[in-house]
Amino acid sequence: MELDKMDENDWKYHGEGNKNLVVSHLQHFRVLRFLKYSTEDSENAPQTSEQTYRHIVDFGKNIMSPLLGDRFVHSGEVIKLPLEFVRQLSIKVQHKRPQWRCKKAMDIYSGCALCLPNLTLPPYNLPTHTPPLCIEIKPKCGFLPSARHVSRDIKTKICRFCTHQRYKVANGKWKRSSLYCPLDLFSGNKQRMYSAIKHLIEEPQNNCKIFKGGQCIYEGNKGSEDFQDLNSLLQDLRPYFLPGTPMLNGHLANKAVLNDLIQVLVEALLNNGGEEQGMRLERGGDGEEGQGFCEASLLTTELKRNSCPGLPRDCVLSRILHTQMLDSLDIEGLQPLYRRLEKHLKLYPGDRSCLQLDGPYDAAFLDRTQKCPAEDDGSIDYAVAKVHQYRVALTAKDCSVMVVLVPRGEDEGLSGQMKARDLLCSSRSSAPRFSFSVSIVDLDPKPFDSIPRQLILDHQIVSFYIENQ
Ligand code: ATP
Ligand code: ZN
Ligand code: MG
Repeated sequence: MELDKMDENDWKYHGEGNKNLVVSHLQHFRVLRFLKYSTEDSENAPQTSEQTYRHIVDFGKNIMSPLLGDRFVHSGEVIKLPLEFVRQLSIKVQHKRPQWRCKKAMDIYSGCALCLPNLTLPPYNLPTHTPPLCIEIKPKCGFLPSARHVSRDIKTKICRFCTHQRYKVANGKWKRSSLYCPLDLFSGNKQRMYSAIKHLIEEPQNNCKIFKGGQCIYEGNKGSEDFQDLNSLLQDLRPYFLPGTPMLNGHLANKAVLNDLIQVLVEALLNNGGEEQGMRLERGGDGEEGQGFCEASLLTTELKRNSCPGLPRDCVLSRILHTQMLDSLDIEGLQPLYRRLEKHLKLYPGDRSCLQLDGPYDAAFLDRTQKCPAEDDGSIDYAVAKVHQYRVALTAKDCSVMVVLVPRGEDEGLSGQMKARDLLCSSRSSAPRFSFSVSIVDLDPKPFDSIPRQLILDHQIVSFYIENQ
């Protein structure tokens, strides 16, 4: 990419979340990810700086990649773009943006962006005849906090996602409640995972998107009717899952397509890159860690309680769950440690930088995070380590998993030149067969200062749930 010859016509709107807007290249398998800022702040000088982008890259590369595994993480690089290109690009993409996202604007002042591989497409520009599929899942928090640290019993029974759902629907964020429960997805039990993914696809909200040939064709629509409904999606996916079965009627065919799609996804999410299968991450039971199921999930208690094999070691979900579990105290247990740190900073403001509360995110930060004393010795070091762990866990609770599916046979051209296994894993299930590649996106650091807000939000969500039971 020649930075001085950037042309906005080579790029198109790809998608956005609350904090970032992404554009993709029309030919190359690349995306640019821009930060967004609140338009209410637009009169003040925009604070987004090159440093913020660098922190994102460093956090991904030095902290999240070692924890989640470098085969899943692509931290990208910061690039400096001509301001005129960025300005033209922002004008070009504006009309593609969903209205409800436009309270924030794309950063056009710093001239920076993150350049990343387009993870909705297969790695290494692998050409395919059929457009590849990509399913994006934002799994959210997959465990319940331990009873030791929480003030409300309900938090040890109903997961954060399910309590938050009630709050969001009541506040009009979504029209309907999602029946997805992350504890089922992270259970490692195929039946529970199946049910979780089915609910995600049926009510995608902000937690599931589907791309075909790098283009988003399905996502939770908020008012807009731009995206197809589930039935037309399944019809669209028919050639991938039911090639040459014109006999099936529409409804049955759609059911079969959905079933196959979910099976392939379960397999991709449990794949551990060829390591010995069988190693399982043990959890569940009523021990300290909390039970392994959520009472809001609609599955029978029997299914939830029994047959919980845990996740294969090193599969993407197990890596994410382990990292989420660095939050061992819950926001309520963290609160006194945050206060301790705050008091310390009042006395020694200079320590904010040497304790690395706002970065740099380097090997020393990871070291502090990982080498936390087992018990609270009343020290600042302990408080810092716990705060770091909490923030890292927060990132892992908010990331998205991208599963790219390429119909088998399409990837064959590749095996001669490179070790295909390094690029794509193969589905083991019976036909239809796919090769897949799995990655994790959105691994930005969560600011230290957001901790008090997290406590307030937690309180609001839980109180609302209790009052509206
Ligand atoms: P959220 O509010 O959900 O946390 P965000 O503002 O942090 O979102 P991202 O999740 O990073 O933004 O990006 C927005 C969307 O852009 C993602 O949901 C995903 O569909 C797409 N996206 C992000 N990174 C990539 C990538 N490397 N390749 C392809 N698509 C990407
Ligand atoms: Zn739940
Ligand atoms: Mg995000």
